Amino acid sequence: MVETEALENMVKHSIEGVIPGLKKLLRDQEDMSSEEDEESCGFSHPAAVERIKDGFMYFKTWKFDESPELYNQLAQAQHPKILVFACSDSRVCPSHVLDFQPGEAFIVRNIGNMVPAFNQLRYSGVGATIEFAFVNLKVENILVIGHSHCGGIERLMSLPEDGSTSSDFIDDWVKIGLPAKAKVKADFGHLPEQEQKSQCEREAVNLSLTNLLSYPYVKSALENKSVSLRGGYYDFVGGKFELWELKTLFTSLIHM
Ligand SMILES: [Zn+2]
Repeated sequence: MVETEALENMVKHSIEGVIPGLKKLLRDQEDMSSEEDEESCGFSHPAAVERIKDGFMYFKTWKFDESPELYNQLAQAQHPKILVFACSDSRVCPSHVLDFQPGEAFIVRNIGNMVPAFNQLRYSGVGATIEFAFVNLKVENILVIGHSHCGGIERLMSLPEDGSTSSDFIDDWVKIGLPAKAKVKADFGHLPEQEQKSQCEREAVNLSLTNLLSYPYVKSALENKSVSLRGGYYDFVGGKFELWELKTLFTSLIHM
């Protein structure tokens, strides 16, 4: 594929070569668009290409070129201090909501901002990210951000009691949050459904923070007091953000 070759070449280029590489990719895309009408996909739609092109040009002109010191430094290495878990929801990008700059935050996004408990047989994508963040990057903070009107939590709260599923991946994924759902049902089962859901959006964050403790890198960093764990909740209806800290108490090891 011409697109793939152009993209690979673009990656190989130096920073200075990015723009010519992108222009070539876009030219190739335009050249091919007439030949691919019958098998057109979203990416070949001219509006999508224009949006990507405009977005990168804006970034390149007003951010990349405006901060050569920052981007030269980032070209050498990254030293993010914080590992962030957030939902994939298009309205809750942490870099926008918390104004993270490039190099500041190592970010994981998934449906419902879930962190599964340590398990080498499943969810290896999340496990690999946490391991890399601690072993390689030595992050000092973890923040798990929930949010209002979360579709993932809505799915979790509406899962059928009989355990049946209606999706290939989504139901199985949001089931990570079942302990949070059970706690909300026990504590707030008398409240209207919408309020239970809102409680679960926060409780799922607490569950993720608790699950993080099952990762040996996180647990030892906490014992050494070299990391702090915080929960956050972004209410995009009212434009508000809540922040709380997970307090843990580890007793000293008893050798027997
Ligand atoms: Zn969500």
